[in-house]
Amino acid sequence: MEKVDKLAPLGFGFMRLPLRDADDPTSIDIGKCCELVDIFMDAGFTYFDSARGYHGCKSEWALRKALVERYPRESFTIATKLPAWLAKNAEEARSMFDTSLAECGVDYFDYYLLHNLGESLTPPFEEYGLWEFCAEKKAEGKIKRFGFSIHDNAEELEKVLDAHPEVDFVQLQVNYVDWESDIIQSRKCYEVCLERGLPVVVMEPVKGGTLVKLPDPVADILRTAEPGAPLASWALRFAGSLPGVIAVLSGMNTPEMVAENAAIMRDGVPLAAGEYEVIEAAREALAALPGVPCTDCRYCMKGCPEGVHINTIMQSLNIYDQMGDAYRAQENYNWNTGAGKASACIQCGACESVCPQHIAIVSELERAAELFE
Ligand code: SF4
Ligand code: SF4
Repeated sequence: MEKVDKLAPLGFGFMRLPLRDADDPTSIDIGKCCELVDIFMDAGFTYFDSARGYHGCKSEWALRKALVERYPRESFTIATKLPAWLAKNAEEARSMFDTSLAECGVDYFDYYLLHNLGESLTPPFEEYGLWEFCAEKKAEGKIKRFGFSIHDNAEELEKVLDAHPEVDFVQLQVNYVDWESDIIQSRKCYEVCLERGLPVVVMEPVKGGTLVKLPDPVADILRTAEPGAPLASWALRFAGSLPGVIAVLSGMNTPEMVAENAAIMRDGVPLAAGEYEVIEAAREALAALPGVPCTDCRYCMKGCPEGVHINTIMQSLNIYDQMGDAYRAQENYNWNTGAGKASACIQCGACESVCPQHIAIVSELERAAELFE
């Protein structure tokens, strides 16, 4: 693979922002958000990534408050996304574009994406005429670069690109754990974009935080190879070393996290050949451990009729399985699931049909109910 001279820039994902109430995703703490944005901008980075649906539809508003109303428009770039699968009809789906402009407080988007395509999620974008609609918005100058995000495999990605070669970029899930995964197919998806000359925005480079909380046997491999380097450095530099990547997104929520990630991507260098071998060893060690590949994206929870805290439950299972820490797994379960315990599940299957990681959620919930209740 071609080598890059410097790492791709860090992007700020506005989907895991600091909250005033941990149980209310809309209760974004704007004061803290402003602090995070300032650290990010001071480090010289400019790419912000939101979506109509993030944080109970409050993420774009937070972007306006913390960024747009505080910095000149030309000093940053904004990406946001249209989730057709949240709309009941074409009119409602199309109206999301103007709502996003108003919520963000801008009159154009630097990057605009159709949100989360693949298999059953793709048809509404066609049915509602959103490809043509976005082409019109681009011709009007309201979209500078048009693309889509996808969590599906390379075959689905090729289908979308064959039907819509007009896109300017693609947003993909890329990290060193999913690179060779048969389900996520990070490498294959990335190579499809590379072959077509399409720039890539990377999402989930640290796999929802999993790659900075590695179990000791895996973390020790990385720590021994480069003492003192944060675990995030391996994950972010892996994504940032890929040619054609225009931003590596991270959903950050503390000043320390923003400062650390910004320093890694500003001062770090692309991975050397020997470092890929270290990563391969860590990947193999991780694959040898049992675990649920949940990235904490929470798509599953939007449509759950019983309000099951699926992400927290998957987290508890991983603490139990991978760290072998039954006490902390139970504590996490007791404190964070509230009324949304695993036993509340009525097995309707809505969550499984939207999970980008294709997790057998229902059977994992049955296991969790047995273990923790
Ligand atoms: S299968 Fe269970 S957890 Fe999934 S959406 Fe239905 S009730 Fe919720
Ligand atoms: S179970 Fe799937 S959809 Fe739900 S949070 Fe985890 S990865 Fe996301």
